[in-house]
Amino acid sequence: MKKIPFFLILLLALNAGAQSNSEADSLNIRKLYDVALLQGQGYAWLDHLSNKIGGRLSGSVNAQRAVDYTKAELEKLGLDRVWLQPVMVPKWTRGNPEYAYIQSPGSPSNTVNILALGGSVATPDTGLRAKVIEVQGIEDLARYGKEQIEGKIVFYNRPMRTDLIHTFEAYGGCVDQRYSGAAEAAKYGAVGVIVRSLSHKIDDYPHTGSMSYGDLPNSKRIPAAAISTKDAEYLSSMLKLNKDLDFYYKMNCRNFEDVESYNVIGEIKGSERPDEYIVVGGHLDSWDVGDGAHDDGAGVVQSMEVLRLFKEAGVRPKRTIRVVLFMNEENGLRGGNKYAEVAKQNAENHIFALESDSGGFTPRGFSFDARDSQFEKIESWKPLFEPYLIHYFARGGSGADIGPLRNESTVLAGLRPDSQRYFDHHHAATDTFESVNKRELELGAATMASLVYLVDKYGFDDIKNDPEILK
Ligand SMILES: [Zn+2]
Repeated sequence: MKKIPFFLILLLALNAGAQSNSEADSLNIRKLYDVALLQGQGYAWLDHLSNKIGGRLSGSVNAQRAVDYTKAELEKLGLDRVWLQPVMVPKWTRGNPEYAYIQSPGSPSNTVNILALGGSVATPDTGLRAKVIEVQGIEDLARYGKEQIEGKIVFYNRPMRTDLIHTFEAYGGCVDQRYSGAAEAAKYGAVGVIVRSLSHKIDDYPHTGSMSYGDLPNSKRIPAAAISTKDAEYLSSMLKLNKDLDFYYKMNCRNFEDVESYNVIGEIKGSERPDEYIVVGGHLDSWDVGDGAHDDGAGVVQSMEVLRLFKEAGVRPKRTIRVVLFMNEENGLRGGNKYAEVAKQNAENHIFALESDSGGFTPRGFSFDARDSQFEKIESWKPLFEPYLIHYFARGGSGADIGPLRNESTVLAGLRPDSQRYFDHHHAATDTFESVNKRELELGAATMASLVYLVDKYGFDDIKNDPEILK
């Protein structure tokens, strides 16, 4: 008999090993998708969070109800441990609904739709009435200078770009108007700001969101509101006809002292490496308008579902897998910071964290904050995702809440669903349960579980000593 060279035997053996590994992986991933699609639980959880609880702004009664509800639901899953992690959060309330109108000289007033930005001060009790100066961004302020801005309301009207495929990039190109617009305009003597809503859709729904006065003293803080895209276009067209029109608005929002709230955490202990942690999460708080179904009810229930899928599919993780429902992403990120702080205190070795906070739409893939070598390893798993139409594996960006876990070895990732409709709903009254599709939500959960399964099984040990810098 002809001798088979040793290297060939080795090659065949290695190949067979790789094949059986990948077959086992395919089967396990199929199982995770099957459980998600045939016996999904996420949509029912989302129904409760959205319709029985509703908007969950930090420090509100609803935020506490969401903490109690998700803790109780995690306890039903038979996890090894479920607990609350205390964290102090800001408390801001909208108060009675805002009211605003445009008054052109000699014409009747026209009401417009606005929402106070989160963290804004109120207008005076009798409201605020002033002339308006329209700008296309913060950089315009210097051009107009104090002479033209003082005593006026600055109207930021730069729209989101429509030519960008990734809508988060379009959002990123405008969000400075909302976040810092008031602080910057106040430096030029503006008395208030109105910001075009961050949405591609032209409709009547204003989109709120966080803003900051930076280190401006209380006496210099001016009220800031978002105006619907339709009314932003209307205001702009009215200003073209007559720059002398008046804008009036009244807002009743209020800032309170910080209050205690919680991150909700559950875990399955690892069978082989219990001291290595994998986190999957979303944020439990939401804005107060709408019911926060996409932002981030979807991410919350998908993350809970990941642990349930492991249990139901009978996949026992080697490492400890934690679901973390972060509190206060929207107006403070206190929950994300607290979780990372406690993890550091306890010297917990987090090898991977995955966040879902981009809506409950059809999953396309993931983005990663990882080293080249870590990313290459992840990319080698791509074929396993192909049957589920998951193809997008890109560098850069993960999730706000897991950001504080960043260090030189932890891989961070974000689920990337289709983003074309996300900003139709983001931070607006239209972010409701009806706008979430059950199958899309379930596919997202199964996709997340599949990635967690692969990271748990293979880890990044072999590239631990890679000297290159985290990108
Ligand atoms: Zn969010």
